[in-house]
Amino acid sequence: MTASTPDTLLTALRAAVGEAHVLTEGDLSAWEQDWRKRTRGKARAVVRPGSTGEVAAVVRACAQAGAPIVPQGGNTGLVVGGVPDESGREVVLSLTRMNRVRAIDADNLTMTVDAGCVLQNLQQAAEAAGLHFPLSLAAEGSCTIGGNLATNAGGTQVVRFGNTRELCLGLEVVTAQGEVWDGLTGLRKDNTGYDLRDLFIGSEGTLGIITGATMKLYPQPAATLTAWAAVPSMQAAVQLLGLAHRHLGAGLTGFEVMGQFALSLVDRHMPQLRVPLYRDTPYCVLLDNADTESEAHARGRFEALLEAALEAGCATDAVVAENLSQAHQLWHIRESIPLAQAEEGLNIKHDISVPVSRIPAYCEATDALLAREIPGVRLVNFGHLGDGNLHYNVQAPEGGDAAAFLREQEERVNTLVYDQVAAFGGSISAEHGIGLLKAHKLPDYKSPVALGLMRALKQALDPAGLLNPGRVVGR
Ligand code: FAD
Repeated sequence: MTASTPDTLLTALRAAVGEAHVLTEGDLSAWEQDWRKRTRGKARAVVRPGSTGEVAAVVRACAQAGAPIVPQGGNTGLVVGGVPDESGREVVLSLTRMNRVRAIDADNLTMTVDAGCVLQNLQQAAEAAGLHFPLSLAAEGSCTIGGNLATNAGGTQVVRFGNTRELCLGLEVVTAQGEVWDGLTGLRKDNTGYDLRDLFIGSEGTLGIITGATMKLYPQPAATLTAWAAVPSMQAAVQLLGLAHRHLGAGLTGFEVMGQFALSLVDRHMPQLRVPLYRDTPYCVLLDNADTESEAHARGRFEALLEAALEAGCATDAVVAENLSQAHQLWHIRESIPLAQAEEGLNIKHDISVPVSRIPAYCEATDALLAREIPGVRLVNFGHLGDGNLHYNVQAPEGGDAAAFLREQEERVNTLVYDQVAAFGGSISAEHGIGLLKAHKLPDYKSPVALGLMRALKQALDPAGLLNPGRVVGR
């Protein structure tokens, strides 16, 4: 690959997308800094194409110049995958100008959209058509569907609808060579060879640039109810999950667990939220029941479930939200945990998964291990228990220097936690992906065969190594 002068590349990029959409000066922190503000890189340019054709032209210009490309959506990713490094060589390709809902096919229950559409706008477009798009996560006001697909995002309704992968039927992708693959099929069945769609989903911008997608839609539920329960142990929470599956069937759309310390941080930093039932119990759970019949039917089934749970001793107390506003308040408490945790100070984040049945044993063993290895350490344990996915986060001891704790202990804590995850048959990333943050850890936990296959795919699709270099599979 021949190196070109910066002017040649910038001229080609301006020709591709228009002068106004190639940014090289001024405050570029919105694109150069990651969401947690832990990393700030330097982009050679931020390019904002407005169509698939323009994305393809940008990729061809960068390929010609040998310039690495970092695709970016809403920049809410948590593993430093979508921001440039410090070299000043990487071109940030921001998809946010591509924000059109292209079509809704109500009979086929699908919507076809630009990759830069903000997730919340897709939910609203589906609702306006009398349908339901179930992907939902706390960053939904900023993250894009392209980013959700690139990271195979999970969120709060995976227990019923699956990850973003399960919600996607077709993709449009610009390849590393600047060609357009139009795979925007709305087919639910298509067995004509390798599944290219699944190759790009979860590839974190390392194999191609997603420019459009056809996503599944669902009928709107007649009523959704939310309940909050105090549970005496993690084992009891798992038992309650089993009961919820049996009583609610496909109505069970969300099942979250929150540790007492995590909730105490919300209480400490956001007392106006009034966290219920948490003071005398190690964990609380939050569950959603979406019913296709009526609110009365939903309430009846929920009450039967909670009665059974109280009788079985896997819940000690429970409340069902009276109305939508109360339900939102309960979810707001759950979604405020990351912010409350940030208010408390810097912390070490994990998004691990373990088979649901092994979560109680994992927590017991890992809580004890960390307490032994790092006396006083505080665990902010919460997450999507219905999917076996915990945000098993680690906070410095009370009153300690959080920055020093991170500097001195982060690598060690990660190794302790990830070794435990591996011992319990889990994954070091259930949601956020690998990015740059965990790329050095992946070889420790992925088999050499799996890594070899991943590297072969990267080499086949992006032989020049220009798409998000160093992320996921390393260099
Ligand atoms: P970005 O951050 O811009 O990019 C993420 C990665 O995808 C990068 O590697 C980037 O290069 C690549 N990428 C982006 N767009 C494209 C594209 N069009 N084509 C190819 N590659 C692309 N994640 C969950 O899974 N579940 C949660 O519940 C969840 N909750 C969150 C809550 C908060 C408060 C925050 C800040 C984040 C949360 N996340 C969660 C993480 C994050 O929101 C998701 O990973 C989201 O899917 C990223 O979307 P984005 O548009 O912001 O992508």
